[in-house]
Amino acid sequence: MSRRAFRLIVRGTVQGVGFRPFIYRLATSLGFSGFVRNIGQGVEIHLEKEQALLDEFLLQLRSQTPPLARIEEVSYQEIEPLGLNQFTISRSSQEESFVFISPDIATCQECLEEIDNPKERRYRYPFTNCTNCGPRYTIVQELPYDRDKTTMAAFKMCPDCQKEYGNPLDRRYHAQPIACPECGPKIAIKETRTGKKISDSLAEAVRLLKKGKILAIKGLGGFHLTCDATNPIAIKRLRKIKQRKVKPLALMARDLKVIKEYAQVTPTEKTWLTSPSRPIVLLQKKKDLPEIAPFLDTVGIMLPYTPLHHLLLKDLPIIVATSSNQKDAPIIKDDTLIGPELCDYILTHNREIAMRADDSVIKVVNGRLLFFRRARGFVPFPQAVPEKLRSSAQILAVGGELKNTISIYKNGYIITSQFLGDLDDYQNFGYFEETLAHLRKLFNFTPELVVSDLHPDFRSSRFARSLGIPHLQVQHHFAHSLAPLIEHQIAPGQKFLGISFDGFGYGDDGKAWGGEFLIADYSGYLRYAHLDYAPLPGGDAAAREPWRMAVAWLKKAFGQNLPETDALKTIPENRLKSILQMIDKELNTPLTSSVGRLFDAVAFLGGLTPARIEYEAEAPSRLEAAASSVQVRVKSFYSFLIKKDSSPYLIDFSPAIREIILDLQKKIRPELIAMKFHLTLVQVILELALQARKEQGISRVVLSGGVFLNRLLTQNTERRLRRHGFEVLRPVLYSPSDESLSPGQIAFALNKIKLST
Ligand code: ZN
Ligand code: ZN
Ligand code: FE
Repeated sequence: MSRRAFRLIVRGTVQGVGFRPFIYRLATSLGFSGFVRNIGQGVEIHLEKEQALLDEFLLQLRSQTPPLARIEEVSYQEIEPLGLNQFTISRSSQEESFVFISPDIATCQECLEEIDNPKERRYRYPFTNCTNCGPRYTIVQELPYDRDKTTMAAFKMCPDCQKEYGNPLDRRYHAQPIACPECGPKIAIKETRTGKKISDSLAEAVRLLKKGKILAIKGLGGFHLTCDATNPIAIKRLRKIKQRKVKPLALMARDLKVIKEYAQVTPTEKTWLTSPSRPIVLLQKKKDLPEIAPFLDTVGIMLPYTPLHHLLLKDLPIIVATSSNQKDAPIIKDDTLIGPELCDYILTHNREIAMRADDSVIKVVNGRLLFFRRARGFVPFPQAVPEKLRSSAQILAVGGELKNTISIYKNGYIITSQFLGDLDDYQNFGYFEETLAHLRKLFNFTPELVVSDLHPDFRSSRFARSLGIPHLQVQHHFAHSLAPLIEHQIAPGQKFLGISFDGFGYGDDGKAWGGEFLIADYSGYLRYAHLDYAPLPGGDAAAREPWRMAVAWLKKAFGQNLPETDALKTIPENRLKSILQMIDKELNTPLTSSVGRLFDAVAFLGGLTPARIEYEAEAPSRLEAAASSVQVRVKSFYSFLIKKDSSPYLIDFSPAIREIILDLQKKIRPELIAMKFHLTLVQVILELALQARKEQGISRVVLSGGVFLNRLLTQNTERRLRRHGFEVLRPVLYSPSDESLSPGQIAFALNKIKLST
């Protein structure tokens, strides 16, 4: 009988996820000797045995992969047998590393049963975890993923934990964050006014919350500000602290049963609510909830994702859990930054957070994910790049400015950072630098090429220039359109119609683009059509004051004789006059093709948004909520013109604005107007897509840009285009917002490298 041996390399998220014990069990059960170890690119497996066959091993490797592992690639070759007589797990090798690290994972069922069982030594222990669950990305400081390279290094394992950690058959074998009440992190409750520790019992935290107090609670990626969600007075105080009158607040509910009292849950939404990534899911409201999410039709709810949260919510069905930060600044991770101005008490613990991450926020649209914010639970999942674009270069993409992310490219994969917020705030820019430094360490990444937005003044663009390495710039909406191609594994070569609607992106003519139809491939684009330019009186100020856009669009549609509208009557005469003058004299009034700003105008005219908004996309969100409340079936839409005598084609929306004014004068309900407005945009998209197919034979459409966070628009656009035989691609694993600029920038750079070699 001849002995045979094989060397397998498994790439993917295979470190720190219970992969080696799994291989150990699998190999020994099939009678192999050999070893498994972590190596730079993933996991190496050496298998040998008499008459060895690999089929069964490979089959089970694929079908029984541990829950947190993601296998990207398995390669193997036959090698000389070493004559080993048992199977072992070797220590990590220290070679050059590029391995994937798992996102943070919600507490698993087995751990939950332990903390509920008075006979277990981890009964009610808030930091219980195992190889299938617990913190990962937020505690790792460096690779390889071993305990001494995490923020758990500070805790010396007790003999009991040590035993579990060392036993390949234990659920906690090599679980780096392993801990117990004996040796692990501990909680403390402090009064913020005095800084004094008042308790180390979770029951006290529950008591304080029930009394209406506001607590900052340390979670995985940072602090939440919390209060009892059934106490309107507490919520009011929390809103005052956050300086948020109407911006929706996220909730954390004990279980699905509680969630269903507040919102409707579809089967797909349920899957996401209970998934190991535990995002906040935006659900259709059942109750009005004026304190939580005023003027909106949805409410964001998540389920507990650490033992601490589970234990807390046993005695409190639902809490408000919003990121603790000062207005627009990054989420806080250190106790020292939390003072009495933010909360009454702080529930903290002594495990440090190595990397911050906000909660992820998703919606389900047409049965698939739509990311509002991609962070905890999803970062840093790697995204494989289509074969034909792969390169040996290491590339950094710095994104845009608002809702920014960073992406890095190495060895065939893109890794996109968590949501970093708006870089025009210096604190968020600090977070940007901190995150880049973290990614450099985790992935042993040294950029050889950097890609930024075309905008000359973005902090991210200036940062890219300062690196002193080759620097590429990509137009904003082109980058938006490229991002979904990567996740849908589209090879270079075919043209598509990229439809990119958002608030603002710097155009290659220096104007503020945002309603773009691009005929593109990876290498470049032709601006096929766009929403006709309208004035943007006051530039950025117009984005905060929807009434300005209402004036701009009325001016465009009616010229000097503006119609009487109820909405504009609320604006003081002198302010109205000065805006009209600004537009006439073109003072501080750039031109914009932004669909986001068009939403602002229509929302204001319909009386659905205040003159000044509190949070980004407030006006469009309210307009969408109004439209969604319409119960009757609406099919009609407003008139518009596609002007084909110019290149690019111009979408003249003035007829629609005039009809909206007529509808308002006829006292048609604003909700119906909102609905017809949405359907008008769907019709604009359909007509241009049909036109592009007729002229250029293009039937692949890519939807991108923050406006497509709108469920009603995305849902209807996808359906109508598909019904007309188009292939519709939209971001699913990434947000359509500016969060996806950085992966799109990488796509452009990779193609550029391919073209030049
Ligand atoms: Zn577990
Ligand atoms: Zn222990
Ligand atoms: Fe954008």
